Amino acid sequence: MTGVKTTCPYCGVGCGVIAKPDGTIKGDPDHPANYGRLCSKGSALGETIDLDGRLLAPQILGRSAGWNDALDLVATKFSAAIRDHGPDSVAFYVSGQLLTEDYYVANKLMKGYIGSANIDTNSRLCMASSVAGHKRAFGTDTVPGTYEDLEQADLIVLVGSNLAWCHPVLFQRISAAKDARPEMRIVNIDPRKTATSDLADLHLQINADGDAALFNGLLRHLADTDALDQPYIDAHVNGFDAAIAAAAGDPTLSGLTADEIAQFYALWAGTKKVVTVYSQGVNQSTSGTDKVNAIINCHLATGRIGKPGMGPFSVTGQPNAMGGREVGGLANMLANHLDIENPDHRDAVQTAWSSPTICTKPGLKAVDLFQACADGKIKALWIISTNPAVSLPDADGVSAAIKNVPFTVVTDIMARTDTGDLADVLLPATGWGEKNGTVTNSERRISRQRAFLPAPAHARPDWKIICDVAQRMGFDGFGFETPADVFAEYVATTALSRDFGKDLDLTALDGADYESLEAVQWPVGGKTRFFADGGFYHPDGKARMIAVTPPAQSNGKFILNTGRNRDQWHTMTRTGKSARLGAHLAEPYVEIHPDDAAEMGVDTAELVTVYGPKGKAIFRALITTNVGRGSLFAPLHWTRQQSASGVVNSAIGPRTDPISGQPATKSTQVDAGKCPVA
Ligand code: SF4
Repeated sequence: MTGVKTTCPYCGVGCGVIAKPDGTIKGDPDHPANYGRLCSKGSALGETIDLDGRLLAPQILGRSAGWNDALDLVATKFSAAIRDHGPDSVAFYVSGQLLTEDYYVANKLMKGYIGSANIDTNSRLCMASSVAGHKRAFGTDTVPGTYEDLEQADLIVLVGSNLAWCHPVLFQRISAAKDARPEMRIVNIDPRKTATSDLADLHLQINADGDAALFNGLLRHLADTDALDQPYIDAHVNGFDAAIAAAAGDPTLSGLTADEIAQFYALWAGTKKVVTVYSQGVNQSTSGTDKVNAIINCHLATGRIGKPGMGPFSVTGQPNAMGGREVGGLANMLANHLDIENPDHRDAVQTAWSSPTICTKPGLKAVDLFQACADGKIKALWIISTNPAVSLPDADGVSAAIKNVPFTVVTDIMARTDTGDLADVLLPATGWGEKNGTVTNSERRISRQRAFLPAPAHARPDWKIICDVAQRMGFDGFGFETPADVFAEYVATTALSRDFGKDLDLTALDGADYESLEAVQWPVGGKTRFFADGGFYHPDGKARMIAVTPPAQSNGKFILNTGRNRDQWHTMTRTGKSARLGAHLAEPYVEIHPDDAAEMGVDTAELVTVYGPKGKAIFRALITTNVGRGSLFAPLHWTRQQSASGVVNSAIGPRTDPISGQPATKSTQVDAGKCPVA
């Protein structure tokens, strides 16, 4: 099909798409992420590009305004807050939906010109624990895996990952590989039976947060059965003794039987080519970073990393969570995988940007950022391309916190969102199909998003809006005319990563034609696979095994787990437009075990109220043995505007991993019962 080659804007698989202005969508047969495949969401993209509900002009206090007035007001309010209360009195909360160019300029403005690191992202909800785990183990945030590794593995362990619904094309690739090689084994570790479990040879219905106990036990088993790669450990790994000492606990604390554990350990120990894939079920936990390291420990102890068909592999939820990491779009990172805490790194970034200042300490991570709003510490807030009033834990508290900020700007493609309704200024952004830039997928592959539609009415690209505000605040360094200009500057700055012995060196792309850039996987310019030579990024060149203490098990009446449906994306601003996608699961529901439903006196489709530590939400009961006794599962997609029964994150408390700051949305202790009005 002729059309424009672009990239799907939903999950972190990053599928190539060929699109036409009439809404015809096909998978790109040449794109190495999907080779022509698409999932239900990707193939329905053409049904989401109409202008119904779009924000088409700036608004100030609910009234249409010109761009000049809106931009002047934003710049004036941010400048005044910084002047009167200091740089840390302002904050940006951005999104893994942004293109790398958007992320780059937002990060540059906040960290290099305003001088604060108060820029965090909804990717904090997605993979922050993996970032922290990678840095502890490898010395930098490197995802070592590739999609081909999944096809080459003899054992794939999917931990806390409903790949079939959340990364469907990757799941299709694994299914095809297993069809071609029936001897391939798949283990699915998940408290819930899902569509992913259906493909697995072994489904381990673990307790919520039982992963660290299970992988600690695996490490101990590997040592006890002589399955370690001692020469590899001696040459390339530090921290083995402490990690193995910490792994002495009882693996049945994971909630699995001794027999299940023995099956899994024997399979893992007896298979050389193992890829352990993990996503939100591991990351979204108060022990998320430790879980990541418990998994990586097992790969390091057996040398199963840096070689085809083996390694730990964190798959990102969002289309550009990885691009945001590359340009430092998290409150605790500088651009190019450099560290805020390192004065040499800070000086180098400031010099590269020729910026007047540089942040000197990490900023507020997502949950803390909105707590600072509630506490009156944030005087001006800019939320870009995300809906935290629905998507963050303690969603009602977050809504109140946003209302408490004296001046809030929201940039979005939609006129009405739960968050946009709280803003003083709304700025209209171009959406998918209307904007140009790059995204990086879960296997570090940088692909182009290309426009195939005109920008509607007064909508503008995010990078341009941010640069316009920066210039009005009196800052040089934002005179970019095209996203290609931004990308070129970003590529040039990655020389710093190389200079400091880090991994993100894209300078081989210097001078590359932006228009024809196609699916470039880093590392570029020579090296083809990370850690192939056993070299890591800690100063001594070795990896670190980390001593992990499994958390105590939750003992509430019910444990509420949240996640995604197959056919919806986040808060449904786009997928909600497709009747076809809406038909899959049409309204908010909670999965309940039949015995729990019977105790509550609840029948199928009756209303259930879930009472969390901060608030409550109401769902239809979906009675199923897919969840164990005492477990509940509810999807996250519905907003207050779509459902009068409240949003699932109203029932989730603001608990976070102490290292990564990632919210723990998979294991909230709640109460639940038949809805009194039912
Ligand atoms: Fe889009 Fe992900 Fe589906 Fe691919 S798998 S089409 S990137 S939603």
